[in-house]
Amino acid sequence: MKAVILSGPEQISVEEVDTPTVQFPTDAIVKVSHSAVCGADLLPFHGHTPGFEFGMIPGHEFVGEVVEVGSEVDGISVGDRVVNTSMTSCGTCSECAAERWTQCTTRSLFGYSGVYPKLDGGQAEYVRVPNAARSLLALPEEVSSEDALFLADILPTGYAGVDNAGVTEGDLLVVQGAGPVGLMAVIVALSRGARVVVVDGVDARRELATELGATAITPQEARDYIDTLTDGVGADCVIEASGSIPALKDALHLARPQGIISVIGAHFENDFPLDNGVMFEKELTLKFNIGNPFKTRELLLEAIRRGELKPGRVLTHVLPADDAVEAYTKFDNKEFTKVALTY
Ligand SMILES: [Zn+2]
Ligand SMILES: [Zn+2]
Repeated sequence: MKAVILSGPEQISVEEVDTPTVQFPTDAIVKVSHSAVCGADLLPFHGHTPGFEFGMIPGHEFVGEVVEVGSEVDGISVGDRVVNTSMTSCGTCSECAAERWTQCTTRSLFGYSGVYPKLDGGQAEYVRVPNAARSLLALPEEVSSEDALFLADILPTGYAGVDNAGVTEGDLLVVQGAGPVGLMAVIVALSRGARVVVVDGVDARRELATELGATAITPQEARDYIDTLTDGVGADCVIEASGSIPALKDALHLARPQGIISVIGAHFENDFPLDNGVMFEKELTLKFNIGNPFKTRELLLEAIRRGELKPGRVLTHVLPADDAVEAYTKFDNKEFTKVALTY
């Protein structure tokens, strides 16, 4: 089969590899139609993931058709059109029993290794899906694959950022970073009737945020803009979706007293100079969130089905898998806001 292979830092190629087969009775094999490139794929792409095993297939956001199921797979059948959860979960460990599925003791992230046990991803014609009854969600006909793709990872992540910050109608929310994850937070917050100000340095991303219904400004404008808008009080909530240290520092100043800073950008720094004075004086809450597709995918699927959420609007480019090099390069340099490959 045809697969995207990450063979070394910034070395992407499309190659012929063996087609995966069922290895455990709880596995399924999915014939992929669409798989997205995620910002998290850029970390191993740049060689920034400690212990990552090069030579594997990336991709933790995919939609396709089930072509084979193991003997113990319940609820998912051959012929179903499905979307995955970015991480696998076993359903039986102590973390799963406590419904902390993203912290499952045997979790793997599709297309990753090093941080998690190795599991080939979905940027390929076929992908093996462990614990398929949990790792796959069957899709109704009326939901497009372009919308469904976002249920794998970044729509649940955006939702977690908004929901864990308790955003409600009329709240003023600042979203730092209008990459795909930040934009998912934007569409969820707007669907709740929040007022959303997006902060990003890239013109095309600000334009897309504006089209979605947010106000978009540059990082340089952020502090003065929010000060003026709120008489110096600050925003009810700040969602840090860029994964950058300057943004996280700025967030403390953009939030109002007793405000919430909800982080959905990926951070891997071992140290951060947190301004405890500001944190204490303003009684701020700082939360970090990993999206939990297994927990929220059904309610998000329903919201898509009802037309309340249209995450596919963020998918700016869809390319054949043969153009994977272009997809990675242009996504990395922010020419593509969100890109999917087709097979
Ligand atoms: Zn991702
Ligand atoms: Zn588990």
